[in-house]
Amino acid sequence: MHPLPPCPQCQSSLTYEDGTGQYVCPECGHEWPMTAPEAAAESARVYRDAAGNILQDGDTVTVIKDLKPKGSGGVIKQGTKVKNIRLVDADHDIDCKIEGFGAMSLKSEFVKKV
Ligand SMILES: [Zn+2]
Repeated sequence: MHPLPPCPQCQSSLTYEDGTGQYVCPECGHEWPMTAPEAAAESARVYRDAAGNILQDGDTVTVIKDLKPKGSGGVIKQGTKVKNIRLVDADHDIDCKIEGFGAMSLKSEFVKKV
């Protein structure tokens, strides 16, 4: 989330977003459009698992295929449960810890929400 700007008309800090790319001031009723970067921040990336379920930080997922993490020499077996994932804006968009492997990055397309 980004901080909301004060109302340009009355400087009220009680402004809010109306959900359509506009800011609204409840004190004077002024409405004005978000700037492009602000609007982009609002339409933040949506993370989906292999089945199209929306993933969120803290979710538990299972791995849907055997994965060979680079450099580890081991295999993360299909069905491995991964708790408390953290979503990141990267190619491997899930940060997590897997027992026996430690901190790992996974792709959301290879997991399924539990
Ligand atoms: Zn205002």
